[in-house]
Amino acid sequence: MSVTQQQVLDALARVKTPRGVALTNANVLSPVAVNDGKVFFSINVDAAEARAWESVRAQAESAVRAIPGVATAMIALTAERKPGSAPASRGAPGVAPVSSHRPPHSPAGSPMARQAEIPGIAAIIAVASGKGGVGKSTTALNLALGLRDLGLRVGLLDADIYGPSVPRLTGIREKPELNDERKMIPIERFGLAIMSIGFLVEEDTAMIWRGPMVMSAITQMLRDVAWGTLDVLVVDMPPGTGDAQLTLAQNVPLKGAIIISTPQDLSLIDARRGLAMFKKVNVPVLGIVENMSYFQCPHCGTRSDIFGHGGAHHEAERLGVPFLGEIPLHIAIRETSDAGNPVVVSDPNGPHAAIYRAIAGEIREQLKGVIAAA
Ligand code: ADP
Repeated sequence: MSVTQQQVLDALARVKTPRGVALTNANVLSPVAVNDGKVFFSINVDAAEARAWESVRAQAESAVRAIPGVATAMIALTAERKPGSAPASRGAPGVAPVSSHRPPHSPAGSPMARQAEIPGIAAIIAVASGKGGVGKSTTALNLALGLRDLGLRVGLLDADIYGPSVPRLTGIREKPELNDERKMIPIERFGLAIMSIGFLVEEDTAMIWRGPMVMSAITQMLRDVAWGTLDVLVVDMPPGTGDAQLTLAQNVPLKGAIIISTPQDLSLIDARRGLAMFKKVNVPVLGIVENMSYFQCPHCGTRSDIFGHGGAHHEAERLGVPFLGEIPLHIAIRETSDAGNPVVVSDPNGPHAAIYRAIAGEIREQLKGVIAAA
């Protein structure tokens, strides 16, 4: 028997808000999405009241889970500080308070000012691309490992909910467990704390997400996961620069973004769109990485600039953003990635690991102030 939206709303009508009214009458619910036994929605409240709402979120979750046929329920509590209200105190369980700290590039009143920091995480950075297939996820994972090699405590959140590839790239097959606070425990692999929507759904399940569900699922993966203390959380964004990506860039408290591009013109045009998107939401672009920059023969090591070369470097200069480095198109990178054993792990002393570490070094340099402050 499939679960209906009405069943979910009926269950939520029995949950009371801190003021004693039915949750469904409190004007705080996002649209409720029900798909194949999976229920997603968010409860949007003023940050000043967030602590009082955590138990409501928990009750709503229990009520939804109790409906026969519900396999998973992802219910996010999102907090927004209303103008003039007092800042929320740190440490409310299940919800990150809105911090008064703002990154230097985010003026008051900008979209960044509305985002709640995640306690324990010094810097969240996005790895984005204008389109799919440019090697964004492979680069995100290897850069996360490069940052780890620099002595940082690093997490990786695969937010590419349309095609999560981190389970394949890391070989992780197990599902995350819940801790006593009912937060998901990220899977620890290669010294990284890793979370992916791909751990929660079957690999072959076609995932069709509509706007609010995207944000709700990602908010939950960000905030209802016991990340612990991290210097950097690398977020592997969904490819492209559409509404879903823009909402994500706007709602995740990002300290910066890295754009992955291949040398072909088309993807550079897409990369420019990525830059424009982050600019719009006042997220500083830490730089562009050119992936599959040149072909390196696996036998003789000879370099061939088969796609033309230097486009991303040139474009970065023109746009005034740092150029972080170039990664060759090499079979070792593809084979190791696709075998769940990334090149920085499988060949830590090899030339490719060195390239990823060098780029990670540039990133660390740019985040130095933020990490040190935390
Ligand atoms: P995206 O996240 O942009 O869709 P992926 O990281 O999944 O891209 O990479 C797409 C394919 O390209 C994968 O098979 C991956 O192994 C391969 N790939 C990525 N970067 C490189 C590279 N520098 N050299 C060779 N193959 C690569």
